[in-house]
Amino acid sequence: MQLTRFEDLNLSKEIHKAVRDMGFEEPTPIQLGAIPHLMMGKDVIGQAQTGTGKTAAFGIPILEKVDPSFKKPQALILCPTRELAIQVAEELTKLAKYKKGIKILPVYGGQSIQRQIKSLKAGVQIIIGTPGRVMDHMRRRTLRVETINYVVLDEADEMLDMGFREDMETILENTPMERQTALFSATMPKAILD
Ligand code: AMP
Repeated sequence: MQLTRFEDLNLSKEIHKAVRDMGFEEPTPIQLGAIPHLMMGKDVIGQAQTGTGKTAAFGIPILEKVDPSFKKPQALILCPTRELAIQVAEELTKLAKYKKGIKILPVYGGQSIQRQIKSLKAGVQIIIGTPGRVMDHMRRRTLRVETINYVVLDEADEMLDMGFREDMETILENTPMERQTALFSATMPKAILD
């Protein structure tokens, strides 16, 4: 059977309600392609540009899977720029409107690290960050990644172009092996496939 509607995707009533509030009528192709696999726990590689609905494609499954009663990092989304990190955090916050107890935090360079540390200490499940600042928090032990179950590499080609390869690899190496990973990229050069 061809999936075409949000009703076909086995989503919670809280997410359905948020999606309706946001004015989404039908899932976009990347959402139809990625959401069922991510909901089943599979890893996904998606080729998608900005504007295709990729944020909700990885964000909805994360919001469905995060445990609101467990106040530790569970999902880490890596983005190339602070603008994208903020934008992704805003979209996820809207999608999480009816999900109680889920905390979402963007962390990026240029913002006071003390403020971020305070928010991280208060208990955050979903962290959206630029690789440099995420590494900084890992070194300071203000972000412990051993409880992370979901990792998203958003705009992975941009992150490689910006020289974040080593940081991305270190971050991935430090998260649990059995984590679920999703990678989104506008292009699929060999470095991304590696
Ligand atoms: P993105 O590609 O994730 O940056 O999303 C681009 C824009 O499309 C954002 O403003 C989203 O809120 C919006 N969007 C995402 N999914 C849908 C959908 N299924 N229907 C309509 N708009 C959407």
